[in-house]
Amino acid sequence: MTDRLQKVMANAGVASRRASEKLIVAGRVRVNGKVVTELGVKVNGEDAVEVDGHLIPQKNAKVYFILYKPRGVISAAKDDKNRKVVTDFFADLPQRIYPVGRLDYDTSGLVLMTNDGDLANKLMHPSYHVNKTYVAKVEGIPDSHDLERLRHGVSLDKKHRSSAAKAKILSTDTKKNTAVVSLTIHEGRYHQVKKMFLAVKHPVKKLKRETYGFLNLDGLTSGDFRELSNQEVTLLK
Ligand code: URA
Repeated sequence: MTDRLQKVMANAGVASRRASEKLIVAGRVRVNGKVVTELGVKVNGEDAVEVDGHLIPQKNAKVYFILYKPRGVISAAKDDKNRKVVTDFFADLPQRIYPVGRLDYDTSGLVLMTNDGDLANKLMHPSYHVNKTYVAKVEGIPDSHDLERLRHGVSLDKKHRSSAAKAKILSTDTKKNTAVVSLTIHEGRYHQVKKMFLAVKHPVKKLKRETYGFLNLDGLTSGDFRELSNQEVTLLK
């Protein structure tokens, strides 16, 4: 659906229609990066409209965020048991966004959130290899043979094996008999990381996803989110 620019601005609460017209004529409004000074221009919900350099919230505009999901949050838009869900963090956003892939309820870490269905489908397709690095606290201390098995592939269930991965020990606690291991995989099968460690008999006690492709959690603490830059979005596509 298209609407006149001044109507879209007024609907977004920028100013009244008359005042929005004045802003347009004054050259203070850009559509998809270009200054618009005529009043006849129509825009749709996906056009990026900026007033004085600030993007106005448009319901259908594509938006991209990373969330540092805390443990105890469901990676979905709603939960039948009424537990906290990842979209609760974005309740004030005019767009309806959803997570790209899932982290378990008890896993923390990076979740990509968007309303861009094309990108989400592309990133989640098994043939599209996005490296994801997890940091797992595991029971026992994996030896070099366990690490080699994790790197070369282990059986996940009757049908599937994990493909090549990177695995390295970050630290060990001999008193508690636990280790912290970094594991990088490009697949995203259900409970994959937990199943991989179970296959080498070192069950996961705690799990966090630290990276998704080139994206990481730098500068964020649990429960924080940030919007991706245009450059990051271009790189993801
Ligand atoms: N692998 C798992 O087992 N759990 C997650 O949440 C993510 C990857």
